[in-house]
Amino acid sequence: MKKTIALLPGDGIGKEVVDVTVEILKAIAEHFNHQFQFNYGLIGGDAIDQKGTPLPEETIEACKKSDAIILGAVGGPKWDKNPVELRPERGVLLALRKALDLYANLRPITTFDSLLDSSPLKKEYVSGVDFVIVRELTGGLYFGKPSERIVRDGEDSVVDTLFYKRSEIERILVSAFEIAQKRRKHVTSVDKANVLESSRVWREVAEEVSARYPDVTLEHMLVDNAAMQLIRSPRQFDVIVTENMFGDILSDEASMITGSLGMLSSASLSSSGLHLYEPVHGSAPDIAGKGLANPVATILSAAMLLRQSFGLEEEAKAIEKAVDNVLNSGTRTADLANGEKAVSTKQMGEEIKNALADDHAILNIMEAYS
Ligand code: NAD
Repeated sequence: MKKTIALLPGDGIGKEVVDVTVEILKAIAEHFNHQFQFNYGLIGGDAIDQKGTPLPEETIEACKKSDAIILGAVGGPKWDKNPVELRPERGVLLALRKALDLYANLRPITTFDSLLDSSPLKKEYVSGVDFVIVRELTGGLYFGKPSERIVRDGEDSVVDTLFYKRSEIERILVSAFEIAQKRRKHVTSVDKANVLESSRVWREVAEEVSARYPDVTLEHMLVDNAAMQLIRSPRQFDVIVTENMFGDILSDEASMITGSLGMLSSASLSSSGLHLYEPVHGSAPDIAGKGLANPVATILSAAMLLRQSFGLEEEAKAIEKAVDNVLNSGTRTADLANGEKAVSTKQMGEEIKNALADDHAILNIMEAYS
Protein backbone atom coordinates (compact mmCIF):
# COMPACT_ATOMS: atom_id res chain seq x y z
CA MET A 1 0.00 0.00 0.00
CA LYS A 2 1.23 3.50 -0.89
CA LYS A 3 0.05 6.34 1.37
CA THR A 4 1.01 9.88 2.33
CA ILE A 5 0.93 10.98 5.97
CA ALA A 6 1.12 14.66 6.95
CA LEU A 7 3.30 15.17 10.02
CA LEU A 8 2.75 18.22 12.21
CA PRO A 9 5.19 17.81 15.14
CA GLY A 10 4.56 21.29 16.64
CA ASP A 11 6.21 22.45 19.86
CA GLY A 12 7.88 21.05 22.98
CA ILE A 13 7.63 17.27 23.32
CA GLY A 14 5.46 17.21 20.17
CA LYS A 15 8.64 16.99 18.08
CA GLU A 16 10.18 14.27 20.25
CA VAL A 17 7.17 11.94 20.24
CA VAL A 18 6.48 12.41 16.52
CA ASP A 19 10.14 11.62 15.64
CA VAL A 20 9.91 8.32 17.50
CA THR A 21 6.52 7.49 15.97
CA VAL A 22 7.87 8.03 12.44
CA GLU A 23 10.53 5.39 13.14
CA ILE A 24 7.78 2.94 14.17
CA LEU A 25 5.80 3.68 11.00
CA LYS A 26 8.93 3.16 8.89
CA ALA A 27 9.44 -0.21 10.59
CA ILE A 28 5.82 -1.17 9.88
CA ALA A 29 6.24 -0.15 6.22
CA GLU A 30 9.35 -2.32 6.00
CA HIS A 31 7.87 -5.38 7.74
CA PHE A 32 4.54 -5.31 5.89
CA ASN A 33 5.75 -4.04 2.54
CA HIS A 34 4.06 -0.65 2.42
CA GLN A 35 5.27 2.73 1.23
CA PHE A 36 4.54 5.64 3.54
CA GLN A 37 5.56 9.10 2.38
CA PHE A 38 5.81 11.78 5.08
CA ASN A 39 4.87 15.43 4.44
CA TYR A 40 6.09 17.71 7.22
CA GLY A 41 4.11 20.87 8.07
CA LEU A 42 4.96 23.77 10.33
CA ILE A 43 2.47 24.57 13.13
CA GLY A 44 2.30 26.28 16.50
CA GLY A 45 4.97 28.43 18.09
CA ASP A 46 7.56 27.48 15.48
CA ALA A 47 5.21 28.60 12.73
CA ILE A 48 4.53 31.88 14.54
CA ASP A 49 8.28 32.50 14.86
CA GLN A 50 9.08 31.58 11.25
CA LYS A 51 5.92 32.55 9.33
CA GLY A 52 4.07 34.95 11.64
CA THR A 53 1.04 32.65 11.87
CA PRO A 54 0.37 29.48 13.90
CA LEU A 55 -1.19 27.61 10.98
CA PRO A 56 0.34 28.61 7.61
CA GLU A 57 -1.77 28.04 4.51
CA GLU A 58 0.87 25.66 3.10
CA THR A 59 0.43 23.41 6.16
CA ILE A 60 -3.32 23.14 5.54
CA GLU A 61 -2.56 22.39 1.87
CA ALA A 62 -0.02 19.68 2.85
CA CYS A 63 -2.71 18.11 5.07
CA LYS A 64 -5.29 18.19 2.30
CA LYS A 65 -2.88 16.44 -0.08
CA SER A 66 -2.30 13.63 2.44
CA ASP A 67 -4.26 10.51 3.33
CA ALA A 68 -4.05 11.08 7.09
CA ILE A 69 -2.45 13.47 9.59
CA ILE A 70 -0.36 12.99 12.74
CA LEU A 71 -0.04 15.97 15.08
CA GLY A 72 2.34 16.20 18.07
CA ALA A 73 1.37 19.10 20.32
CA VAL A 74 1.48 22.88 20.32
CA GLY A 75 1.97 25.69 22.79
CA GLY A 76 4.45 26.89 25.35
CA PRO A 77 5.23 29.78 27.70
CA LYS A 78 7.03 31.73 24.94
CA TRP A 79 3.71 32.38 23.17
CA ASP A 80 1.37 32.48 26.20
CA LYS A 81 1.10 36.28 26.19
CA ASN A 82 0.34 36.53 22.45
CA PRO A 83 -3.06 37.86 21.40
CA VAL A 84 -5.57 35.02 21.23
CA GLU A 85 -5.38 34.52 17.42
CA LEU A 86 -1.59 34.18 17.72
CA ARG A 87 -1.79 31.61 20.52
CA PRO A 88 -0.75 28.21 19.16
CA GLU A 89 -3.62 26.29 20.79
CA ARG A 90 -6.43 28.40 19.41
CA GLY A 91 -4.63 29.28 16.19
CA VAL A 92 -3.79 25.66 15.36
CA LEU A 93 -6.00 23.16 17.13
CA LEU A 94 -9.30 24.96 16.83
CA ALA A 95 -8.50 26.35 13.37
CA LEU A 96 -7.47 22.96 11.99
CA ARG A 97 -10.57 21.27 13.43
CA LYS A 98 -12.74 23.88 11.67
CA ALA A 99 -10.73 23.89 8.40
CA LEU A 100 -10.87 20.08 8.05
CA ASP A 101 -14.26 19.62 9.79
CA LEU A 102 -12.76 17.22 12.34
CA TYR A 103 -15.95 16.86 14.33
CA ALA A 104 -15.60 13.57 16.22
CA ASN A 105 -12.75 13.10 18.68
CA LEU A 106 -12.30 9.49 19.80
CA ARG A 107 -10.28 8.88 22.95
CA PRO A 108 -9.93 5.23 23.94
CA ILE A 109 -9.32 4.61 27.65
CA THR A 110 -7.91 1.13 28.13
CA THR A 111 -5.76 -0.11 30.98
CA PHE A 112 -2.65 -2.23 30.42
CA ASP A 113 -2.34 -4.99 33.05
CA SER A 114 1.36 -4.20 33.47
CA LEU A 115 0.54 -0.57 34.39
CA LEU A 116 -2.18 -1.13 36.97
CA ASP A 117 0.22 0.00 39.72
CA SER A 118 0.94 3.25 37.86
CA SER A 119 -2.62 4.53 38.24
CA PRO A 120 -3.28 6.67 41.31
CA LEU A 121 -6.55 4.71 41.60
CA LYS A 122 -6.75 1.29 43.27
CA LYS A 123 -5.89 -1.66 41.04
CA GLU A 124 -9.23 -3.40 41.55
CA TYR A 125 -11.07 -0.35 40.18
CA VAL A 126 -8.99 0.20 37.05
CA SER A 127 -8.30 -3.40 36.02
CA GLY A 128 -10.23 -4.28 32.84
CA VAL A 129 -11.30 -0.71 32.04
CA ASP A 130 -12.04 -0.34 28.32
CA PHE A 131 -14.16 2.53 27.06
CA VAL A 132 -14.11 5.28 24.44
CA ILE A 133 -14.88 8.95 24.93
CA VAL A 134 -16.50 10.45 21.84
CA ARG A 135 -16.06 14.19 22.19
CA GLU A 136 -17.82 16.67 19.87
CA LEU A 137 -15.00 18.78 18.46
CA THR A 138 -16.20 21.58 16.21
CA GLY A 139 -19.01 23.21 18.20
CA GLY A 140 -20.16 23.82 21.76
CA LEU A 141 -18.52 26.17 24.23
CA TYR A 142 -15.20 26.20 22.34
CA PHE A 143 -16.62 27.78 19.19
CA GLY A 144 -19.76 29.74 20.24
CA LYS A 145 -20.03 33.41 19.27
CA PRO A 146 -19.97 35.84 20.94
CA SER A 147 -16.96 34.98 23.07
CA GLU A 148 -15.75 38.34 24.31
CA ARG A 149 -15.42 40.95 26.99
CA ILE A 150 -18.43 43.27 27.06
CA VAL A 151 -19.86 46.06 29.17
CA ARG A 152 -23.22 45.19 30.72
CA ASP A 153 -25.11 47.33 33.23
CA GLY A 154 -22.11 49.67 33.12
CA GLU A 155 -19.80 46.92 34.40
CA ASP A 156 -16.87 45.12 32.80
CA SER A 157 -18.34 41.69 31.90
CA VAL A 158 -17.61 38.66 29.79
CA VAL A 159 -19.60 36.24 27.62
CA ASP A 160 -18.84 32.78 26.17
CA THR A 161 -21.54 31.07 24.16
CA LEU A 162 -22.45 27.39 23.93
CA PHE A 163 -23.94 27.01 20.45
CA TYR A 164 -24.98 23.88 18.53
CA LYS A 165 -26.97 23.22 15.40
CA ARG A 166 -29.23 20.20 15.86
CA SER A 167 -27.42 18.52 12.93
CA GLU A 168 -24.07 18.84 14.75
CA ILE A 169 -25.48 17.12 17.83
CA GLU A 170 -27.06 14.43 15.67
CA ARG A 171 -23.89 13.52 13.75
CA ILE A 172 -21.76 13.08 16.87
CA LEU A 173 -24.45 10.91 18.47
CA VAL A 174 -24.64 8.81 15.29
CA SER A 175 -20.84 8.32 15.50
CA ALA A 176 -21.18 7.21 19.12
CA PHE A 177 -23.95 4.70 18.39
CA GLU A 178 -22.03 3.28 15.42
CA ILE A 179 -18.92 2.81 17.57
CA ALA A 180 -21.04 1.22 20.32
CA GLN A 181 -22.53 -1.26 17.83
CA LYS A 182 -19.01 -2.64 17.28
CA ARG A 183 -18.32 -2.77 21.04
CA ARG A 184 -20.45 -3.66 24.09
CA LYS A 185 -23.49 -1.73 22.76
CA HIS A 186 -23.86 0.81 25.54
CA VAL A 187 -23.85 4.60 25.08
CA THR A 188 -23.64 7.02 28.01
CA SER A 189 -24.66 10.48 26.81
CA VAL A 190 -23.21 13.07 29.19
CA ASP A 191 -24.82 16.50 29.57
CA LYS A 192 -26.00 19.10 32.09
CA ALA A 193 -29.70 18.94 31.23
CA ASN A 194 -30.76 20.08 34.72
CA VAL A 195 -29.24 23.51 33.94
CA LEU A 196 -28.49 24.05 30.23
CA GLU A 197 -31.00 24.38 27.38
CA SER A 198 -28.34 23.07 24.97
CA SER A 199 -28.17 19.89 27.06
CA ARG A 200 -31.95 19.46 26.98
CA VAL A 201 -31.86 19.57 23.17
CA TRP A 202 -28.84 17.19 23.26
CA ARG A 203 -30.99 14.71 25.25
CA GLU A 204 -33.91 15.02 22.81
CA VAL A 205 -31.60 14.30 19.86
CA ALA A 206 -29.95 11.42 21.75
CA GLU A 207 -33.39 9.81 22.22
CA GLU A 208 -34.21 10.28 18.52
CA VAL A 209 -30.92 8.78 17.36
CA SER A 210 -31.21 5.95 19.90
CA ALA A 211 -34.50 4.84 18.30
CA ARG A 212 -32.52 4.04 15.12
CA TYR A 213 -30.15 1.71 17.03
CA PRO A 214 -32.43 -0.67 18.97
CA ASP A 215 -29.49 -3.01 19.70
CA VAL A 216 -27.67 -0.25 21.65
CA THR A 217 -28.69 0.86 25.16
CA LEU A 218 -28.74 4.62 25.82
CA GLU A 219 -28.17 6.06 29.27
CA HIS A 220 -28.13 9.78 30.16
CA MET A 221 -25.74 11.04 32.83
CA LEU A 222 -25.16 14.53 34.22
CA VAL A 223 -21.58 15.68 33.72
CA ASP A 224 -20.86 16.15 37.43
CA ASN A 225 -22.05 12.61 38.15
CA ALA A 226 -20.00 11.34 35.18
CA ALA A 227 -16.85 12.94 36.65
CA MET A 228 -17.54 11.08 39.90
CA GLN A 229 -18.47 7.76 38.24
CA LEU A 230 -15.23 7.76 36.21
CA ILE A 231 -13.33 7.47 39.48
CA ARG A 232 -15.87 5.39 41.42
CA SER A 233 -16.50 2.67 38.84
CA PRO A 234 -14.88 3.26 35.43
CA ARG A 235 -15.58 -0.29 34.19
CA GLN A 236 -19.29 0.59 33.80
CA PHE A 237 -18.57 2.65 30.67
CA ASP A 238 -18.44 1.47 27.05
CA VAL A 239 -18.97 4.61 24.91
CA ILE A 240 -19.29 8.09 26.45
CA VAL A 241 -20.50 10.84 24.10
CA THR A 242 -20.48 14.48 25.10
CA GLU A 243 -20.12 18.18 24.33
CA ASN A 244 -16.73 19.64 23.38
CA MET A 245 -15.71 21.21 26.72
CA PHE A 246 -17.19 18.41 28.88
CA GLY A 247 -15.26 15.88 26.76
CA ASP A 248 -12.01 17.78 27.12
CA ILE A 249 -12.22 17.79 30.90
CA LEU A 250 -13.52 14.24 31.33
CA SER A 251 -10.86 12.73 29.06
CA ASP A 252 -7.98 14.34 31.00
CA GLU A 253 -9.57 12.99 34.18
CA ALA A 254 -9.91 9.55 32.56
CA SER A 255 -6.24 9.57 31.55
CA MET A 256 -5.32 8.97 35.18
CA ILE A 257 -7.12 5.61 35.05
CA THR A 258 -4.44 4.46 32.62
CA GLY A 259 -1.59 5.86 34.75
CA SER A 260 -0.33 8.74 32.61
CA LEU A 261 -1.44 11.33 30.11
CA GLY A 262 1.47 9.99 28.06
CA MET A 263 -0.52 6.81 27.33
CA LEU A 264 -3.63 8.36 25.81
CA SER A 265 -4.10 8.33 22.03
CA SER A 266 -6.84 9.95 19.98
CA ALA A 267 -8.37 10.18 16.54
CA SER A 268 -10.30 13.14 15.19
CA LEU A 269 -12.58 12.05 12.40
CA SER A 270 -13.85 14.33 9.65
CA SER A 271 -16.79 14.23 7.28
CA SER A 272 -14.36 14.15 4.29
CA GLY A 273 -12.45 11.03 5.37
CA LEU A 274 -9.20 12.95 6.04
CA HIS A 275 -8.68 12.15 9.73
CA LEU A 276 -6.16 13.49 12.27
CA TYR A 277 -4.40 11.45 14.96
CA GLU A 278 -2.66 12.90 18.01
CA PRO A 279 -1.78 12.20 21.63
CA VAL A 280 -4.19 13.69 24.15
CA HIS A 281 -1.38 15.44 26.01
CA GLY A 282 0.05 18.88 25.29
CA SER A 283 3.58 20.13 24.59
CA ALA A 284 4.69 19.60 28.24
CA PRO A 285 7.19 22.50 28.42
CA ASP A 286 8.29 21.26 31.88
CA ILE A 287 9.95 18.17 30.36
CA ALA A 288 10.54 19.27 26.73
CA GLY A 289 14.02 18.65 25.31
CA LYS A 290 15.01 16.32 28.17
CA GLY A 291 14.10 12.99 26.57
CA LEU A 292 11.57 12.38 29.35
CA ALA A 293 8.38 12.27 27.27
CA ASN A 294 6.44 9.05 26.96
CA PRO A 295 5.94 8.48 23.20
CA VAL A 296 3.34 5.70 23.62
CA ALA A 297 0.28 7.97 23.22
CA THR A 298 1.52 9.10 19.80
CA ILE A 299 2.61 5.59 18.77
CA LEU A 300 -0.84 4.25 19.70
CA SER A 301 -2.39 7.14 17.75
CA ALA A 302 -0.41 5.90 14.72
CA ALA A 303 -1.93 2.45 15.29
CA MET A 304 -5.38 4.07 15.26
CA LEU A 305 -4.41 5.77 11.98
CA LEU A 306 -3.40 2.50 10.33
CA ARG A 307 -6.66 0.83 11.40
CA GLN A 308 -9.13 3.69 10.83
CA SER A 309 -7.69 5.52 7.81
CA PHE A 310 -5.87 2.73 5.93
CA GLY A 311 -7.82 -0.36 7.06
CA LEU A 312 -4.53 -1.99 8.16
CA GLU A 313 -5.82 -4.03 11.11
CA GLU A 314 -2.89 -6.46 11.32
CA GLU A 315 -0.35 -3.63 11.29
CA ALA A 316 -2.28 -1.70 13.96
CA LYS A 317 -2.42 -4.80 16.15
CA ALA A 318 1.32 -5.37 15.64
CA ILE A 319 2.05 -1.93 17.12
CA GLU A 320 -0.36 -2.44 20.03
CA LYS A 321 1.16 -5.84 20.78
CA ALA A 322 4.71 -4.45 20.63
CA VAL A 323 3.75 -1.69 23.10
CA ASP A 324 2.14 -4.28 25.37
CA ASN A 325 5.20 -6.56 25.22
CA VAL A 326 7.57 -3.71 26.04
CA LEU A 327 5.45 -2.60 29.01
CA ASN A 328 5.18 -6.21 30.20
CA SER A 329 8.97 -6.44 30.13
CA GLY A 330 9.04 -3.64 32.73
CA THR A 331 10.40 -0.89 30.46
CA ARG A 332 9.07 2.48 31.63
CA THR A 333 9.47 6.14 30.76
CA ALA A 334 9.79 8.48 33.75
CA ASP A 335 6.06 9.28 33.97
CA LEU A 336 5.31 5.60 34.71
CA ALA A 337 8.44 4.59 36.59
CA ASN A 338 7.33 5.65 40.12
CA GLY A 339 10.85 6.97 40.73
CA GLU A 340 12.47 3.71 39.56
CA LYS A 341 14.88 3.43 36.61
CA ALA A 342 13.39 4.91 33.44
CA VAL A 343 14.29 4.91 29.75
CA SER A 344 14.35 7.96 27.48
CA THR A 345 11.79 8.81 24.81
CA LYS A 346 14.11 7.49 22.09
CA GLN A 347 14.97 4.31 24.01
CA MET A 348 11.27 3.58 24.49
CA GLY A 349 10.81 3.94 20.72
CA GLU A 350 13.77 1.63 20.06
CA GLU A 351 12.37 -1.02 22.42
CA ILE A 352 8.99 -0.91 20.68
CA LYS A 353 10.70 -1.11 17.28
CA ASN A 354 12.71 -4.13 18.43
CA ALA A 355 9.57 -5.79 19.78
CA LEU A 356 7.91 -5.24 16.39
CA ALA A 357 10.87 -6.82 14.62
CA ASP A 358 10.93 -9.80 17.05
CA ASP A 359 7.24 -10.38 16.63
CA HIS A 360 7.48 -10.12 12.87
CA ALA A 361 10.36 -12.58 12.77
CA ILE A 362 8.29 -15.06 14.83
CA LEU A 363 5.33 -14.62 12.46
CA ASN A 364 7.58 -15.23 9.45
CA ILE A 365 8.97 -18.43 11.00
CA MET A 366 5.44 -19.62 11.82
CA GLU A 367 4.29 -18.90 8.25
CA ALA A 368 7.31 -20.73 6.80
CA TYR A 369 6.47 -23.84 8.82
CA SER A 370 2.67 -23.75 8.44
P1 NAD B 1 0.47 18.92 29.10
O1 NAD B 1 -0.39 17.81 28.63
O2 NAD B 1 1.45 19.46 28.16
O3 NAD B 1 1.23 18.47 30.44
C1 NAD B 1 0.54 18.12 31.64
C2 NAD B 1 1.49 17.30 32.54
O4 NAD B 1 1.62 15.98 31.99
C3 NAD B 1 2.90 17.87 32.60
O5 NAD B 1 3.41 17.66 33.89
C4 NAD B 1 3.68 17.05 31.60
O6 NAD B 1 5.05 16.93 31.89
C5 NAD B 1 2.97 15.70 31.67
N1 NAD B 1 2.98 15.03 30.37
C6 NAD B 1 2.24 15.35 29.30
N2 NAD B 1 2.52 14.53 28.27
C7 NAD B 1 3.46 13.68 28.72
C8 NAD B 1 4.16 12.60 28.10
N3 NAD B 1 3.96 12.24 26.84
N4 NAD B 1 5.07 11.94 28.83
C9 NAD B 1 5.30 12.28 30.12
N5 NAD B 1 4.66 13.28 30.75
C10 NAD B 1 3.75 13.99 30.05
O7 NAD B 1 -0.53 20.07 29.58
P2 NAD B 1 -0.21 21.55 30.14
O8 NAD B 1 1.03 21.54 30.97
O9 NAD B 1 -1.48 22.02 30.73
O10 NAD B 1 0.05 22.40 28.82
C11 NAD B 1 1.33 22.66 28.27
C12 NAD B 1 1.14 23.35 26.93
O11 NAD B 1 0.53 22.46 26.02
C13 NAD B 1 0.23 24.57 27.01
O12 NAD B 1 0.74 25.56 26.16
C14 NAD B 1 -1.11 24.02 26.54
O13 NAD B 1 -1.94 25.02 26.02
C15 NAD B 1 -0.65 23.07 25.46
N6 NAD B 1 -1.60 22.00 25.14
C16 NAD B 1 -1.58 21.57 23.86
C17 NAD B 1 -2.37 20.51 23.48
C18 NAD B 1 -2.30 20.02 22.08
O14 NAD B 1 -1.43 20.44 21.35
N7 NAD B 1 -3.18 19.12 21.66
C19 NAD B 1 -3.19 19.87 24.45
C20 NAD B 1 -3.14 20.31 25.77
C21 NAD B 1 -2.33 21.38 26.11
